[in-house]
Amino acid sequence: MTELPPPEARTKCHSYRSAMTTSRVTHAVPQLRVISTAAVDDPPTSGLATTAGTKARLDQLAAELDLLEMVPFSNTEAAFAPALALERRARALGAGDLQRRAQLVQADVLDRKGKHTAAGQLIKEINDWAEERGQKHLLARSHRLLAMFFDSMGDMPSAWTHAVRAVELVDDTMSDRLRADHLFGLGIALVRTGAWDAARERYRTALQLAEGLDDVHLRLKLLNNLAWLEREAGDAHRSMEIARRMESFAANHHVELDAACLDTIAHAQLMLGKYVEAERTLRPIIEDTDLTSRDSEGVAEALRTAASAQRLQGHTGSAQATLDRCARFCEERGIGLIRVEALQEQAQLYAEQGDYERAYQQYIDFHDADAALRAAEREANARTLQAVFETTEARREGERFRELALRDALTGLRNRRFVENDLNARLVRAVEENDSFSVALVDLDHFKLVNDSYSHATGDQVLCRVADILAAATAESGWTARMGGEEFLLVFPGDAIDEAVARCDEVRQAVESFPWASISPGLTLTVSIGVTELQAGRTSQSALLGQADRNLYAAKYSGRNRVASDLA
Ligand code: GH3
Ligand code: MG
Ligand code: MG
Repeated sequence: MTELPPPEARTKCHSYRSAMTTSRVTHAVPQLRVISTAAVDDPPTSGLATTAGTKARLDQLAAELDLLEMVPFSNTEAAFAPALALERRARALGAGDLQRRAQLVQADVLDRKGKHTAAGQLIKEINDWAEERGQKHLLARSHRLLAMFFDSMGDMPSAWTHAVRAVELVDDTMSDRLRADHLFGLGIALVRTGAWDAARERYRTALQLAEGLDDVHLRLKLLNNLAWLEREAGDAHRSMEIARRMESFAANHHVELDAACLDTIAHAQLMLGKYVEAERTLRPIIEDTDLTSRDSEGVAEALRTAASAQRLQGHTGSAQATLDRCARFCEERGIGLIRVEALQEQAQLYAEQGDYERAYQQYIDFHDADAALRAAEREANARTLQAVFETTEARREGERFRELALRDALTGLRNRRFVENDLNARLVRAVEENDSFSVALVDLDHFKLVNDSYSHATGDQVLCRVADILAAATAESGWTARMGGEEFLLVFPGDAIDEAVARCDEVRQAVESFPWASISPGLTLTVSIGVTELQAGRTSQSALLGQADRNLYAAKYSGRNRVASDLA
């Protein structure tokens, strides 16, 4: 008989609390290695495979990932090392998408282990990456994992949103296994919000899909969750019926039910008043003297349920012994939530024995401990969410503001500050490497007239169109900045003056021939341009721009709508 691994979030939700939260609060920081996607080069993705050999290796890798993606679900421990190995292989092949798929498997493991911060950061990064590139499979998987992450954070609306996206993104190219898993995720999110019918429908569809698959774990988990759903929805008979189906399915497949599944059956029995049967169901746990190999949370819950079953039969002595064992077990394993729930069971046990004073005191203790635990959870969740989201947000905002400070608000071009930060360094490098380097100042002719004859708003529009023309002219090499007012700088690294003059003349013609009348009837516009080149004795930014400005003045002076350079 094989022992089943711990359950996926059986939707046993204690007022929206996660079953994993307690282990996160008490366990140490992850020892597992997380490879940041920051260290990863961006494309090529697998779509860019060049040789047939590479293509075959990528296909092989993708097929292995298809299998590995589902492993954490049934055996968390088994997935991490293979995921690291696949990540390395994907990186060696330069397949950014496959590399991230392998990282996502690692994140899945981390999340299930309660390392929510590390998991959340990685999932979020990969989700952003996939979103930017429209990588559908990665997007679907990362949304599924974000749903799980938010579920453990107690943020149900976010969990639901991501679970819905994860289902929407599944298409015909994806496996039934994945489809079933994503429906399962949505079912969990729906149960959390009490949407029983909608959740039942997702679970049932997932079960139908799973029936065609050779995946005992998935089917058992779906049945367990479905039975629990019916219990939560208040239908003990239906819950019992599904629990029985789960039991016989496990027996037919020679699989031993784990503590969480047994607990589900026992709960249905308790609801039906079958206390003796409930205790009998949990006997494998009660009688197991070595619980180390079993899932801790499942065991703790099962012990507490067993104590209830014993108390309800009036066996207060054995109920007390079981409850003491449950409390010790929770202490040892750091399972705060069930430890607190055990205090409540203890109060009921005192009341059962007629000791109402102790029962009352015990209720107060339970209440205090429960409030303290919730507060600790909220705080820990807030820290995790901050680590995962706000820092990313702050970093992005910072980058955006730095970027904004170097850009002109009207045209979006680089601004004077950017030029001052950047140009000297480029000039130094060009001198060292003995490269050509030209610059040009562009000034709109009689621009004041545009403002005066049309409007300032029209003037702004004209500035934006000119900015577009200049940016297009330097798109392939070089760059454009707005120096202020109606004056722009064109930078041509690598271009000697004659090349720069030719490019500037194209710019001049492009401005002149632009259909300005489409902005306002009768509108025309030209520019004058002064060009100069890096040369001995003229290597600083101010010297170079000074010379360009003198050439610009020459262009204006000789009639406007022309390019003037050192050559002229
Ligand atoms: P010239 O051919 O000699 O360059 O003549 P000009 O009229 O272009 O030169 P002048 O420097 O006298 O006028 C520049 C005008 O540009 C004055 C100012 O109102 C206008 N201007 C500067 N910045 C902006 C802006 O952001 N928007 C608008 N609409 N006008 C601006
Ligand atoms: Mg001017
Ligand atoms: Mg002007």
